Amino acid sequence: MVAVSPALRAATVDRLRRAGCVWAEDEGRLLVEAADGPDSLAGLVDRRVAGEPLEYLLGWAEFCGERISVVPGVFVPRTRTALLVAAAAAVTGPAATVVELCCGSGALTRALARRLRAPRLLAAVDLDPTAVACARGNLAALGVPVFAGDLFDALPAAWRGGLDLVVANAPYVPTAALGLLPPESRRYEAPVALDGGPDGLAVLRRLAVDATSWLAPGGHLVVEVGETQVDLLGAALTEAGLVPTTVRDGSLGATAMTAQRPVGMAGRGNEN
Ligand code: GLN
Repeated sequence: MVAVSPALRAATVDRLRRAGCVWAEDEGRLLVEAADGPDSLAGLVDRRVAGEPLEYLLGWAEFCGERISVVPGVFVPRTRTALLVAAAAAVTGPAATVVELCCGSGALTRALARRLRAPRLLAAVDLDPTAVACARGNLAALGVPVFAGDLFDALPAAWRGGLDLVVANAPYVPTAALGLLPPESRRYEAPVALDGGPDGLAVLRRLAVDATSWLAPGGHLVVEVGETQVDLLGAALTEAGLVPTTVRDGSLGATAMTAQRPVGMAGRGNEN
């Protein structure tokens, strides 16, 4: 941050407000903090006024009390996803083995590192190379490897049947509803992070089926989902052999589901 005159600060907030930014005061302060000087500030405000997400301009998003680095295209961690973290922490014991799939920036792993007791954070996985690079930056200090690949396929085969917790904020927006997302999301985030196929559950269904063999007996899959999709996803989880529970937080506008692999269930996969 460099010195920016009070007049320029006020003008910045005013421009943001006139462009329709609801949190113009806060955004103005953060953009001043991020800028290298008046010219750089003007450039950032131009981009914000044109609709670019604030988080891409700052280079970080706040999630569960931490600043998580984000780069353009990578899914911006949402405040509501704190419910997924709380739901995972509520069902997970100490020294759990943990994997994050569809990791985007790796925000969930960062939050779980603080919320769980002595977790063994094995890996985070994403399909999108931009997300993999971003998560590597966010998870380097934790020593968590980030693999590029498709869900469980990216993991070492030896982990099958041994995971205590699998978390994923997988894409769950129905393809036909992508156009209804706020422009910041629709225009700037990678569609692969949002598009959940015809009914929004294409990725979550695959997760449900595969989790059955990758979880340890008694282990949990924990995901976020849209409120209107709870019944369908619950049925898919049950059909896969897991025991689902729905968790809601009205003030966050969030719905999460935990799904446990029963302790007595024989694995379907080739665990040995
Ligand atoms: N629209 C949802 C959100 O903003 C999309 C989340 C997702 O697909 N994982 O939270």
